[in-house]
Amino acid sequence: MEFLPEALEQYVEQHTTGETDVLQQLNRETNAKVMMPRMISGHLQGRFLAMMSKMIKPKAILEIGTYTGYSGICLAEGLQEGGTIHTIDINEELEDLVRSYFDKAGISHKVQYHIGNALEIIPTLEGPFDLVFIDADKVHYANYFDQVIDKVTIGGYILTDNVLWSGKVLDTKQDKDTAAIVAFNKKVMDNPRVETVMVPIRDGILIARKTV
Ligand code: SAH
Ligand code: CA
Repeated sequence: MEFLPEALEQYVEQHTTGETDVLQQLNRETNAKVMMPRMISGHLQGRFLAMMSKMIKPKAILEIGTYTGYSGICLAEGLQEGGTIHTIDINEELEDLVRSYFDKAGISHKVQYHIGNALEIIPTLEGPFDLVFIDADKVHYANYFDQVIDKVTIGGYILTDNVLWSGKVLDTKQDKDTAAIVAFNKKVMDNPRVETVMVPIRDGILIARKTV
C-alpha cells in the first residue's frame, strides 16, 4: 500500500538522488529472482537510510534483517572511516547474492554478515552501536528492542521499519504481526530512555534516539 497518491510519490522520488548503479541492479535482481521482493527498501527509503546514516556518522551499525543487502549497503554509506556494519539474517539461501552485492558495492571489508536467528546472535555482539536498524520478523520487534537498547550509545539511534504496516496499525481486529507492531510502537513511545519521531516514509519508520 502507498500512503501518498502515485503522482506525489513520483514527485518525491524525482526530487530524491537516484540509486547507484549497483543498488539499481540489486533492486532489479531482487524483483526478478527473490521471494517477496516488496520487502526491499528501494529507492526512496534507501536514500533516506543513507542520509540518516550520513547525518549520524556511525562507527558501528547493527542491522537486523539483511534480506538481499539493499538497506545494509545504504546504511554503510554513512560509516566513519574504519567503521563496521553488522547485519543479521536467518535466510542462508540469500548468502551468495548478498555477499556478491557487498563486494560490488565495495563494502565487504566493513561488513560482518551473520547468518542465523537474530534473537540468538544479538546477545553475542558486544556493541556499542550508534545506529540500529530493526527490520526482521515483526513478532519479535519488541524483543529486538530489549536486546539492543543497552548496546546503543547515549545519543545513538534505533530505526525501525514497517511501523505503519500498510495502515493496519489502525485496525480494531488485528492479526499477530499487526498486534506486535502496535505493541512495539506503544512500548517505544512509553520508554523514558528514548525520544521518538514516527516518519511516514513508505511503510513508516520509527526513529528512536537514546537519551539516557
Ligand atoms: N532490510 C531489508 C529487508 C529485510 S526483510 C531491506 O530493507 O532491503 C526481513 C528479513 O528478516 C528477511 O530477509 C528474513 O529472512 C529476516 N528474518 C526473519 N526472521 C528473522 C530472525 N528471527 N532472525 C534474523 N533474520 C530474520
Ligand atoms: Ca522493511
